Amino acid sequence: MRDYYDILGLDSSASQDEIKRAFRRLAREHHPDVKKNDPQAGERFKEINEAYQVLSDPQRRSQYDQFGTVSPMTAAEEFRDFGLGSFNDIFDMFFGRRPAGMDRDAPVRGTDLRYDLEISLEDAARGVEREIEIERLDTCPSCFGTGAERGSTPETCPTCRGSGQMRYSQRTALGSFTQITTCNQCGGAGTVLRHPCKQCRGSGRTPLKKTLTVTIPKGVDTGMRLRLTGEGEAGERGGERGDLYVFLDVAPHPVFERRGNDLVCEIPISITQAALGDEVDVPTLDGPAVHAIPAGTQPDDVVTIPGKGMPDPRGGRGDLHARLRVRVPTNLSAEERRLLQELAKLRGENVKPQKKKLTDKVKEMLQ
Ligand SMILES: [Zn+2]
Ligand SMILES: [Zn+2]
Repeated sequence: MRDYYDILGLDSSASQDEIKRAFRRLAREHHPDVKKNDPQAGERFKEINEAYQVLSDPQRRSQYDQFGTVSPMTAAEEFRDFGLGSFNDIFDMFFGRRPAGMDRDAPVRGTDLRYDLEISLEDAARGVEREIEIERLDTCPSCFGTGAERGSTPETCPTCRGSGQMRYSQRTALGSFTQITTCNQCGGAGTVLRHPCKQCRGSGRTPLKKTLTVTIPKGVDTGMRLRLTGEGEAGERGGERGDLYVFLDVAPHPVFERRGNDLVCEIPISITQAALGDEVDVPTLDGPAVHAIPAGTQPDDVVTIPGKGMPDPRGGRGDLHARLRVRVPTNLSAEERRLLQELAKLRGENVKPQKKKLTDKVKEMLQ
């Protein structure tokens, strides 16, 4: 067997850098894809590769330096063997290119969560603190997110030796193929847990219920959201926590309708109140307020009470608009009817009350 240093054209004092450089140069030169017509190329390339595999590994190199031989490669190491992989694969390996999405060591930020919260108009007007309960993936309290049972630590995956990948090389009639797959023992993580945490089964995160107090400022409206920084799910591999967004929904109110920061309501009044003027109770969020309506109020006239609307989150407060609905009486007694007819006469109105239908007359007689 040829000396590994001779194969790479180096002497035994070569540095790791020199070994790597020599291998790159020779691999390019002797790769079977390049020397297609040379039947020896495959053998030569294997030799170069073998020499590199030993000399680039400090432990195996020192074994080789001492004993002039190394123990046979394990099955796991065979997977690292470049075999007769394609030219591009060699370059990808050495120039550190890795397919997108393969950066398995990168920290991952926790997922943002959404919580829909319905509040009353009164709560929206005054501001309120509400307790909410959420369930989220949290850092496992048993292993503190490491995924390892207490007293044990993750170990380098023996199958892929920490690379997270496995390479399969195959030679067929159509040429040689190299396939890179995710390591099936560690799932690409590069580490395995001999003793995974029992609570989170090694994931480092576990679903936990959490009660949070949400402070809702006054003046909020439907569609607004509050962000609770860091109250989303726990990150992975040291990634920061996600956020929790509380989406607010202000429930419809039986009395008030909201228009921006103003409130609108309706107040029924009688024709005599409208004609003579009166003092009426106007409902507000702070309780009823007495308000005068002038004589001669028309249907749908609006009474405005300034500063009794919704608070503006930026300061100030909207107004309250009460629309006056004049109710025309429908249940007149004979006396009331007579007085109204007299009123009409006094006002010079020629009122012609509708004649009662025959059927109504019969109904009256039967009563
Ligand atoms: Zn755990
Ligand atoms: Zn692995």
